[in-house]
Amino acid sequence: MEELRIVGSSRILAIANQKGGVGKTTTAINLATALAAVGKTVLIIDIDPQGNASTGLGIDRHAREKNVYDVIMGDIPMKTAICKSVIPNLDLVPSTADLTGAELELIEMPHRSHRLTMALQAVKSDYDYILIDCPPSLNLLTLNALVAVQSVIVPLQCEFFALEGLSLLMKTIERVKSTLNPELEIQGVVLTMFDKRNRLSDQVAQDVRDYLGDKVYQTVIPRNVRVSEAPSHGKPALIYDHRCAGSQAYIKLASEVIKREKSQFAA
Ligand code: ADP
Ligand code: MG
Repeated sequence: MEELRIVGSSRILAIANQKGGVGKTTTAINLATALAAVGKTVLIIDIDPQGNASTGLGIDRHAREKNVYDVIMGDIPMKTAICKSVIPNLDLVPSTADLTGAELELIEMPHRSHRLTMALQAVKSDYDYILIDCPPSLNLLTLNALVAVQSVIVPLQCEFFALEGLSLLMKTIERVKSTLNPELEIQGVVLTMFDKRNRLSDQVAQDVRDYLGDKVYQTVIPRNVRVSEAPSHGKPALIYDHRCAGSQAYIKLASEVIKREKSQFAA
């Protein structure tokens, strides 16, 4: 298995969807925790000014003094903004509301789409996986992520408007691939907040599979109250209650993600 790993190079993935509340942050935190649990070293980079990934991993406000805003602005190296989480193997670059202003400031800056790519150079041999938790927008911050990563994981909530906006995301990814980042791929689409008591969830899941085929992971993340409680305890669901259906689903998702990475290498 080791031979399939590109030695000294992280797999860098963005968790992206311009819709808010679809499960990006929940997926970033719990996928990262599940990867860490099987011995992978993982860095989450929180590039959402809401800082939910930072809060969900229990990173104190005072520990966010050095954060992703300073990194993107080029004021500090990425390494100095890395916080350890309570989970072994899982580190985080936190975000604060400062990042809200970054978008406007970036417009005026040189290499405005490549700030994150440049900042990542110094850490990209330090981890097995680097996951970037994107904001709910197709703004310059998200563009920075799409330029910096090798692939994208797209969470889709099992609700009526699930596919709405997806074509814009796909088009954006295609455009970035044909211009700024030729290696960019969608690693997969993950169905989130699936409610088995709701027939609509089933219908949506089926429609999404008909439309996107095997881009959709087999694993479906169920709607689960333990998953939604976990962030208020500053813990990933996998630590808060590793037995709950949501946590178990994220463990399965992690193994699919690892498998897809390996088949991409083997190709
Ligand atoms: P995004 O990052 O896309 O805005 P979040 O991951 O923050 O979305 O999720 C939005 C809300 O839904 C949060 O309150 C989160 O706790 C909740 N949530 C996410 N996934 C689940 C799930 N599988 N079951 C129940 N609640 C969930
Ligand atoms: Mg989020």
